Formats: sequence, C-alpha cells, structure tokens
Amino acid sequence: MKVVERLPEYEVKRSRRTTADIVVERDGRIIVRAPEWADDALIASVVKDRQYWIFKTLAEWREMNRSHIPREYRNGEGFLYLGRTYRLTLDPDTTEDLALKNGRFHLKRDLVVDAEGQRVREAFQNFYQRKGIKLLPGWVDYFAPKIGKIPVSVSVRDTGHWWASCSAKGSLAFHWKCMMAPRRIIDYIIVHELCHMHHRDHTEAFWNEVDKILPDYRERKEWLRKHGAGMDV
Ligand SMILES: [Zn+2]
Repeated sequence: MKVVERLPEYEVKRSRRTTADIVVERDGRIIVRAPEWADDALIASVVKDRQYWIFKTLAEWREMNRSHIPREYRNGEGFLYLGRTYRLTLDPDTTEDLALKNGRFHLKRDLVVDAEGQRVREAFQNFYQRKGIKLLPGWVDYFAPKIGKIPVSVSVRDTGHWWASCSAKGSLAFHWKCMMAPRRIIDYIIVHELCHMHHRDHTEAFWNEVDKILPDYRERKEWLRKHGAGMDV
C-alpha cells in the first residue's frame, strides 16, 4: 500500500465542542471541527490518523461531481422536478417566467438573454422555491408527529452547501434544490432534519431515530450522495 506522506489541506473551525471530527464539504473543502482548546499539533495528528479516510472520501467526492450535468437553456434540455426530467420549451407567448404544463417546462423566451443565463436560473430557483413552500410544510406535518417534534417554522431558500438545516429553536430550512429530488429522497431529508430536534449531532442515537421512521434510510442517503451534484439548474 502506498504511503501518503503529504497531509491534505484543511481548514480548522474551533467551537465549544468536546471532540474533533473531520468533514468533507459539498464543495470538496476539508474542515476539521475541533474543540476550542485543541492546538494545531493535536489537530494535525487527528488529520494524520484519518488521512486514508480523507483521501478515500475526496476520491468519492470527485467521482460524485462527475455526475454534475452542465445544462443549457435551449429547447429540449432536461430539468428535474421531484425526480423526473421534463424538457424545456422556450415559449415566446407565455406570461409566466416559468411554468410546468403538459409535461414540459415552459420558459419565457425573453429571459434567455445571455450565455450565463442568470435570469433563467432565477426563474428556476423561484419555481422550486414556490413549489417547496407549497408542498414541504404538509410533508413535514406528516412526519413530525411520528418523530414527536413539531418545528416552529419551515422555509425554503438557498441553504448553501446543505440540503437542509435545523436551528436550535426548531426552524427547518430546505434548499430549493431539494424539490429536484424524488419524493422518497425529500422524505429522508425531512426525517433527517426532524430527528435533529432530538439529537443535534450524527451519533448512533440520532441514526437510530432516523431508522425508526425510515428503515431503508441508508439507501436514500447513498442516493443523495451519488446524485446530489447532478441536481442543479
Ligand atoms: Zn444532519
């Protein structure tokens, strides 16, 4: 086995926690989350101990990002909604910026003004956000009593590198990209966040809670890991 001599580059985030852990962010950055008292030498030794795991995870990350699909805003291009692909029609007559009708996305043609497609991207984000605000609260309401926690609010926005988040006060926020995923994957994201209202971390106790509601959560989690990067506009 090849000995890796150089440690990968990483960022350190210190906080009021008791143990250190390492995460590979969705943009490929390696973050070491450490207690405030941990010095640089200790952190370096933690990274060294886990370097094989880090390289393995980075390799998987690169593999996953290969599933990222560059899309063009032209007739016939496919875009996702609830796990299904719908073709795009550039519509010169429509009044709405973007709507899903008769099995196609109808985009107001005037919005395609440049190669970057900033206005088209905004139209898609607004579409997913609108759908999310309409549908997600009801889906959350379905799972909340099963988990025994009722969130104080449900919002849909750009949550950065996270599919969703749960605040300490119990506010759930979902990334608008969630609406591109199949329903069973969204269910997993919902259950995951609701279970954080019992356990803030990803301990065994946390996964036990998820398992009670979704015994096949591992498969759903794996799907998200594999296909997450392909979910964009
Ligand atoms: Zn989590």
